[in-house]
Amino acid sequence: MAKAVERLKTTESVDSNATDPNAPSFFKYEDRIEEGDTAIVYVCFGVTHAIVVKRGMTLAMKYGALRHEFIIGKPWGSRISATAGYVYLLRPSSELWSRSLPRRTQILYTHDCALILQLLEIKPGSVICESGTGSGSLSHALAMAVAPTGHLYTHDIDESRTKTVEQEFKTHGLSEVTTPVVQDVCKYGFFVSNACDGVFLDVPAPWEAIPHAADAISRSRGGRLVSFSPCIEQVQRACEAMRKFGFVQIETVEIVPRTYKVVQQNRQSLAEFNESGDSLAATTNFGGRDHRKRKAKIEENGAESGKSWTLASGNCTAITFPYNQPTHSGYLTHATLLPV
Ligand code: SAH
Repeated sequence: MAKAVERLKTTESVDSNATDPNAPSFFKYEDRIEEGDTAIVYVCFGVTHAIVVKRGMTLAMKYGALRHEFIIGKPWGSRISATAGYVYLLRPSSELWSRSLPRRTQILYTHDCALILQLLEIKPGSVICESGTGSGSLSHALAMAVAPTGHLYTHDIDESRTKTVEQEFKTHGLSEVTTPVVQDVCKYGFFVSNACDGVFLDVPAPWEAIPHAADAISRSRGGRLVSFSPCIEQVQRACEAMRKFGFVQIETVEIVPRTYKVVQQNRQSLAEFNESGDSLAATTNFGGRDHRKRKAKIEENGAESGKSWTLASGNCTAITFPYNQPTHSGYLTHATLLPV
């Protein structure tokens, strides 16, 4: 009974999913940027801005101002001049959206999102339940993966979060494939029962939602469950619940990404190496003594330690980039519920 009452508290989109054919979409592939499109203004690695293009508006950035008028009609991917330098106008993807979205909560980043999509065995047509919605970072990746024929039910206990994501889905043309639901999944479970192909959990007490996940998954098709938790104690309790409620092939993985940039640098001579006694100083050409300069250069380039090799065109170094690399984000525990 409680579940039925809570279900009435779903946001309006459940009943108003009709898609506006002119709605700007993350799927629209026109060559040129139109008014109403969401565009990603790419300044440099780590600095992107998502804007809804509207005549009369100006994007104010640390790097200068950009009037939206200049964007309309430009081909996607254009390099355009702002008042203090160049920026690129990129078509939104779920990855670029994750980088630029307004954050209301902790979010999942590309490396975790990519593995989650694969672990859920998601494809166009899949029906997926997710909780919590949070800032909608993963929700966008899930919605784009199930479209155009599947569906994402994304649940959050906090109504303001589902409302905001619902509005973003509308702006991005994803309303038809998504239903944001205000619901405590640990108490009341998911919006669908015996219907979905996969459940994803990013909630503080996933073990309480796991019996409901088993209920949401289609009994005839079976399905996948993936749970994200920052702490190993959460993983232990989640695994116990998974076993108890019939899930099999339970496994936990953690991704610690390390990104690199390949830059061209001067060849390091043996004399330079001997003189400085410091391979980093030699490869970055600072003479090995000026630490402040070296630190600034390292921060700019992300050069912490470089591995050099020679190409026909010159000497290249692979450096970790950015300098401060993300480390632990969380554990991904995944399992299968076999068809009955
Ligand atoms: N994966 C999201 C971030 C989720 S943050 C992203 O990539 O953006 C965790 C969210 O879970 C919060 O918004 C919180 O409100 C929600 N939450 C916590 N407990 C919940 C519960 N029992 N039922 C539904 N949502 C819950």
